Amino acid sequence: MNLRAILEDVHQLESEFEQVLIEPQRSLIGVVTKPVTLRGIDLGPFQIELYLDRLAERFDAGAIDCVALDPNPATSCEEVTHPHVKSNSLCTGDATVPIQSALREGRICDLFLLVNSVLHTYNSGSPYVSLDDWHGVACGDCGFSCDRDNLYCCQGCECDFCDSCISSCEICEESYCQGCLEREGGDGRYLCRSCRCNCPRCAQIASASDVDEYGVCRSCQEEQQEQPDQQEMDHGDDSEHEPNQGAAQDPAQPPAA
Ligand SMILES: [Zn+2]
Ligand SMILES: [Zn+2]
Ligand SMILES: [Zn+2]
Ligand SMILES: [Zn+2]
Repeated sequence: MNLRAILEDVHQLESEFEQVLIEPQRSLIGVVTKPVTLRGIDLGPFQIELYLDRLAERFDAGAIDCVALDPNPATSCEEVTHPHVKSNSLCTGDATVPIQSALREGRICDLFLLVNSVLHTYNSGSPYVSLDDWHGVACGDCGFSCDRDNLYCCQGCECDFCDSCISSCEICEESYCQGCLEREGGDGRYLCRSCRCNCPRCAQIASASDVDEYGVCRSCQEEQQEQPDQQEMDHGDDSEHEPNQGAAQDPAQPPAA
């Protein structure tokens, strides 16, 4: 791309946009759009920034940032400042090919007009966050969208769930989603990750308060007591032996039989 041609195009930009900024040190050409309002939701003006140095690698929307100047992000994600903008990068959708050819052919003014029109258009087929959910959050299970205040946060996965989908641990009574709970013994109480253990012997879920120090469940412990000649669980593991100096005698040494 020829810098001279770009500069000529920039003059045209000034007639299309009220504010044009050129920062050679950052290889940046930018414009400020009119405030964007989609389906009654004000998203504020955006600054479209083209970084010429990024064009060395690729001729696509990766060279462009769309920065919300008066952001009104989606409630569910701060990074989504527009249904088609996440972390300042634009999902160009149907405009992808025209944007790429404008970039490749150095038609800077066309490029900014294309991006500007993407920002002023809502494509309900592929938003990062749907405008319907802009100020609401979808339940992580059934997808029902409601106000954040009416959702419950699962203490396990930290996702939000509606009041019909949230559940709770039957020991600690904290809120958990169904996916984060497992049933004791396969059909007993619903237990959270902190309140349950996987017995290493029978692989069943057991309440953490019922297991011994090795995580072995009660029924396996009872079975073990009935079969005293069974091999011991903790077969000598000296990996915890501390290399500290100063102990003349090793107190861990068992007395000679
Ligand atoms: Zn739900
Ligand atoms: Zn969960
Ligand atoms: Zn619990
Ligand atoms: Zn067991």
